[in-house]
Formats: sequence, structure tokens, C-alpha cells
Amino acid sequence: MNSPRKQLEGMIPFQPSESVEDLKKRYQLSHIDKMSDNENPYGTSLKVLDMLKDNLGFLSSYPSGTSSKLVSMLAEFHQQSKERFVIGNGSDEVIRLLARAYINPDDEAVMADATFPRYQTNVLIEGGKAITVSLKDGVHDLDGLKNEITAQTKMVFVCNPNNPTGTIVTKQELLNFIQDVSKDVLVVVDEAYAEYVTSINYLETATLIDQYPNLVVLRTFSKIYGLAGLRIGYGMMHPDVAKELNKVRDVFNVNQLGELAAMTALEDQDFVKMSSKANAEQREYLYHQLKHAGFSPFPSEANFLFIPLKDSSLELFEALLKNGILVKMMSVPGIPYGMRVTLGTEEANQRFLQIMYSFSTEGVV
Ligand SMILES: *Cc1c(COP(=O)(O)O)cnc(C)c1O
Repeated sequence: MNSPRKQLEGMIPFQPSESVEDLKKRYQLSHIDKMSDNENPYGTSLKVLDMLKDNLGFLSSYPSGTSSKLVSMLAEFHQQSKERFVIGNGSDEVIRLLARAYINPDDEAVMADATFPRYQTNVLIEGGKAITVSLKDGVHDLDGLKNEITAQTKMVFVCNPNNPTGTIVTKQELLNFIQDVSKDVLVVVDEAYAEYVTSINYLETATLIDQYPNLVVLRTFSKIYGLAGLRIGYGMMHPDVAKELNKVRDVFNVNQLGELAAMTALEDQDFVKMSSKANAEQREYLYHQLKHAGFSPFPSEANFLFIPLKDSSLELFEALLKNGILVKMMSVPGIPYGMRVTLGTEEANQRFLQIMYSFSTEGVV
């Protein structure tokens, strides 16, 4: 047998959770609320659905290859020049392009543990080393990250709000961090959940890319815009960095419908505001109800809560599933058992809470 690159040895392909269709069959349910993948429970803008119905006539043509119309709209939306945008097949792809363009074998990338796993995976695939720094109380330890930067470091990732904990770093801390990191190191700030943040102590870093040529900001249409299925996200960065990413990007990386949908979705900021407001209300309510019941969720600025648990709580997971709720069980350093639950509709959240209450009296807190 031909041997693959040694970087792939021992790597495990992403394991998707069981499909909702299969789970429905297995648990004999007519409906499951998928509160496991941080998707928007309100769907997507109706304007997007209407637009898609009218634009199915040209599926046999290739997409633009440059996404130039979407880039123009985003440039206007963020008040940035067009050369600063790279559109990806989800922001996942932009992460891959960054690793592809910048990581040589044995180069280092610094990131939190736990955070979005694709940073580490893409760095390892290129033969780089992932240097991880534990979260402190679920929050990025920016000083810790800074201390791990060496002459080998090519990039440092800050996921803000952080997936899976939902926490943010404060405005001033992040600003100091961006100022302090050497210009030879890319600072990649992943703002996949930025639109959900309500804290006044949050820094949206897009406004800083003029000032910091090593700053890269990632955004996505998968979360609040509700377009996860169409795979579209983007990065904002210095034009020189964008130029490198475009060298390693596939020509037709973004599909036609995804690009069209993103343009329409961007125009419907009312949908974004509605989703953000409903999410914030539910987040506040669930957070306090869970606290009251004896759980200790991390304070979240995203569309999910991370709840530490006493044990592996398979029974809890099963009980939720039997009631039509799918969550994600996971651990973070120092917390061997935990659950990440995406905030759902008010009705789904109520059902979720009822099960959580019944387990809190059984001491699974
Ligand atoms: C969901 C998510 C993304 C990207 O998702 P795409 O669907 O690839 O755009 C990126 N970063 C974080 C932290 C996420 O949670």
C-alpha cells in the first residue's frame, strides 16, 4: 500500500453525530430539536428562501470564482476595502487556507484548549505544531497565549466568543494583546458568534485591520444568518495576506447559491436583530434557571451554553433525546464532563429545562 503523509498518521476523521433522521427512527419521535450544532433555531431569512426559489435556473453554470458581488456588499457593510476579503466554503475553509499558506513543517500555532478544533487539525495536517494553553474559567488566557509565542510561531488563534464555552475576552485585554503580539505572527480572531454578543465589553476587531497588518478576522453565514447548509464564510485581512490565501484557494470554492443567499441574508439585518434579541432573552433566562437549579454554566455571549456536569451523564443525554432534544456532550481541561447546548426556541428551551430540573434533584449537577 502507498503510505499517506506522516502527518495524517493517527489522525481521526471528524465523527459526525448520528443523523436526526436516524435518531427520530430509533427513539420513535416525530420531531427533534437539534441543540447540538449552534445552528439558528429560527431558520434563515424568508427573503433568502424566496430568492433561492427564483434562482434555480442556472445550476449548470460555474459560480463566479471571485464572489465579487458579495465582496462588494461586505466591503460596504464593514466599511473596508474589497482587497481585504477572502470568501470561503464556510469560515472553516478560511482556517484551512491560513494553515496551507503559512504553516511550514515544524512551525507553531498557538491556541486555547478547549477551542474550535479545526485550528489544531489544519495546523497538524500541514506538519505544524499546535501549542495549546488551557482556558481559565472557560475564558481565553491571553497572557498565557502570548507567553507561548516564539520565533517558530506563525499564528495565534483567539475564538471570541469561544466555542465551546461561549465566553468572551474583554475589549481592553484583546486590544492590548493585538498590540503586543509581534507583527510577524498572524493574530486570527474568529468571530463566528459576534452577532449574538450583547456585552458592551466586546471588541469587534474588523475596525482594526487597517491598523494591524497581521490581524485576520473570521466571520460566517452559518450561525446567526442560518445558512450553515450552504457553506459560506469569510475572512478580513491585510491585502497581502488575502493575496497569499487566494493562491491556495480552489477556483470555485464558493457555490453559486451560497453566494446569492449570503448577499440576500446580509441585506436582511432585521432577521439578524430578531435572532440576536430572541437568543439573548433565552440565554439570560436559561442561564439563571440553570444556576437556580444548582448547575454552573459559563457566562455566555453566544447562542449556546456550556454546562459542567458531575459525571458522564449518559442518562441525562438519553432523557433529553427521548424528549426530542439533542445536545452535545464534551469535556474541556479541568472539566471532564460537560454539555454544550445550543439555545433553541422558547418551547424547546422549556422542555430542555424540565429535564435538567429533574436531574438536578437527582444530584447530577
Ligand atoms: C461554526 C464555527 C465556525 C465555522 O463554521 P462554517 O460553517 O465553516 O463557517 C468557525 N468558527 C467557530 C468557532 C465556529 O463555531
